[in-house]
Amino acid sequence: MEEPFIKAKPIIETLIEAGFEAYFVGGSVRDHLLGRSRGDIDIATSALPEDVQALFDRTIPVGIKHGTVVVLHNQEMYEVTTFRIDGDYQDFRRPSKVEFVTSLEEDLSRRDFTINAIAMDIHGTIIDPFEGQKDLKNKLIQTVGNPDDRFLEDPLRIMRAIRFVSQLDFELSPETKKSIKRHAHLLTKISVERVLVEFEKLLTGQTANKKAIMLIAELQIQNYLPLLDNKAEELRQFAVLCSQQALTLEEQWALLIHILKIEDIEFFFRQWKSSNERIKTCRLYLNVIAELKNCTNLSRYTVYTYGPEAVKSGIRLYCLLENKQSDAVLTELQTITQSLPIVARKEMAITGNDLIEWYSKKGGPWLSKTIEIVERAVVNGEVENNKENIKEWLLTCNPPSENNY
Ligand code: ATP
Ligand code: MG
Repeated sequence: MEEPFIKAKPIIETLIEAGFEAYFVGGSVRDHLLGRSRGDIDIATSALPEDVQALFDRTIPVGIKHGTVVVLHNQEMYEVTTFRIDGDYQDFRRPSKVEFVTSLEEDLSRRDFTINAIAMDIHGTIIDPFEGQKDLKNKLIQTVGNPDDRFLEDPLRIMRAIRFVSQLDFELSPETKKSIKRHAHLLTKISVERVLVEFEKLLTGQTANKKAIMLIAELQIQNYLPLLDNKAEELRQFAVLCSQQALTLEEQWALLIHILKIEDIEFFFRQWKSSNERIKTCRLYLNVIAELKNCTNLSRYTVYTYGPEAVKSGIRLYCLLENKQSDAVLTELQTITQSLPIVARKEMAITGNDLIEWYSKKGGPWLSKTIEIVERAVVNGEVENNKENIKEWLLTCNPPSENNY
């Protein structure tokens, strides 16, 4: 057994000593059988949440209603979930209530795919009532039980199926695939936040994200995703480019937005319920792409205002889109970055107060405009970044009597 399981063993031992059953389950067992080691271990138990809370000193009640308690042990967090089956999925939301059950097999039967419905006991013995190991060997994603029922119950599983294709480089079983095509429209019934989590895991699946994105287009799933309606061709183009270079998640979003020719980025991301941080980063990348399209030389001011990291991403995306080599532009970026006299406005040798004094004028819109002019000149090397030089330069090219900024 691998290290992460050995570290989690005392939790299972404690539960067993108290008379309960407990097993390793979910993604950690699947990945262990695939020979991919991972940190987060999930445990399923016959103990009720209150039993778990009573048995361990440090717990966090993260989802008592759904049977989940986090147990803190040796600086690690373990999700311990009571054996359960899901109650009604009303209006395609998460089950409003769950029913705790006593058998492991029942618990495994509510899980989405056969490869995710495998348990392992404390001795490393595998419990696999739905032949998940066979599907692992055949690299197949298929639902536990009838796919139509399972996708109707929770349409998020459609996105989960495709994201496992992406992460594991597996195929959908023919039945599962047909059923997804029939039920893709149900994706509009569930919250965008849940879809986004799976979609982003799909994008960052290093192994087969091209295959997964192509599959979205093939099964017409995009018609039920925010602002991707009828964009199968664009998605295919996106898939091909994603496979040509390892991109970060933000870079992928920027690339997608560029390919879709989205103008209102904010609206796009709002529909996807994305974070503001993501909007900001993508906007920077898209600005760099646009600037490089207009003029192939990098400007020092662009590097200064967007920051070298964002510019680097923009360059990579631009070259990917234009099918150009990025080496020369990246070297240029490095040269510019190293020669920038300042990296932020606060490093300027003057402040607004200096300007107010030199021009003997009250603050106003002219002030920020003048600061920006000085900033630009400093960054472009037209004037050295010290007070005296800036004063001389500024008062020569823009004497107080003519300051109309
Ligand atoms: P990973 O953690 O690598 O993203 P995972 O398989 O552990 O993958 P989680 O979302 O962490 O996925 O869920 C843990 C387990 O819970 C799954 O392996 C599966 O057994 C079950 N599960 C999760 N979501 C669903 C769902 N929507 N329907 C049915 N079972 C689910
Ligand atoms: Mg998990």
